[in-house]
Amino acid sequence: MLGNKLVVIIGATGTGKTRLSIEIAKAIGGEVVNGDKMQIYDGLDITTNKVSLQDRCGIPHHLIASIPHNAGDFPVSFFRYAAKTTINCIARRGHTPIVVGGSNSLIHGLLVDNFDLSIVDPFGQLEVSYQPTPQWQCCFLWVHVNEVILNEYLKRRVDGMVDAGLVEEIEEYFDTLSVNGHVPYVGLGKAIGVPELSEYFTGRVSCSDALSMMKTNTQILARSQVTKIHRMVDVWGWHVHALDCTETILAHLTGSNKYMEDLVWKRDVSDSGLAAIQDFL
Ligand code: ATP
Repeated sequence: MLGNKLVVIIGATGTGKTRLSIEIAKAIGGEVVNGDKMQIYDGLDITTNKVSLQDRCGIPHHLIASIPHNAGDFPVSFFRYAAKTTINCIARRGHTPIVVGGSNSLIHGLLVDNFDLSIVDPFGQLEVSYQPTPQWQCCFLWVHVNEVILNEYLKRRVDGMVDAGLVEEIEEYFDTLSVNGHVPYVGLGKAIGVPELSEYFTGRVSCSDALSMMKTNTQILARSQVTKIHRMVDVWGWHVHALDCTETILAHLTGSNKYMEDLVWKRDVSDSGLAAIQDFL
């Protein structure tokens, strides 16, 4: 292993991990390693909420849009190998790797010192005595948002995605890949939005019902991600800096001006995150 220090940003979907990762990368000379299992695929950029080139602000992003849209499922061990190689290259350039997830199964699979394939669900309640330790020195930042506020934000985010062309994007994907009215439920076909809108394209539900299902499933995903993070913290004992982005999201939802929103973001999230990282480095 080359560098032994890693910044790891975790949190549910929609909490602000992407924005934080770019601000931190700019401040410390970092490079981002994607840890969202759907964003690894090339395609469905709106649906999977990939960060645009413009928003990346010149910060190198790795393992994003890196495998073909029809590649199917990949094993966690593939991510472990690819991300580890990427992290070593970043460290060799003298930069700090910033892993941003996303998918807690990928974060776990990458970080644990002993990756044991016999542990099928590392976050499951059955694994009572499982206490993995990270193979790097990690500074974990957990971007957290109150569940009620986040749920409202996630609902509106789907509406924003629709305005950006979500339905058309999934329709094109559906037209290319569907067999007998279904996109195979593997790989990128599992992205929230694909199964739901497929029901609409085949006339089984209305567009608005499909989008409601998509909103509900996004909220369910967020809740499950938080449960997994609690396991890392409460059961495995991984030391995590929690950053509360609730007020920032609330400012956004209530239509506060951008200046106010940025002020709250800086106060609650980015300043504390940067302070934790500066202590760590
Ligand atoms: P699990 O093992 O349950 O799949 P995980 O931690 O490996 O959990 P998650 O990132 O929580 O992975 O993803 C679980 C599911 O949530 C995915 O299979 C997909 O349906 C959906 N999902 C995750 N990320 C996205 C995304 N960026 N866009 C759309 N759907 C997503």
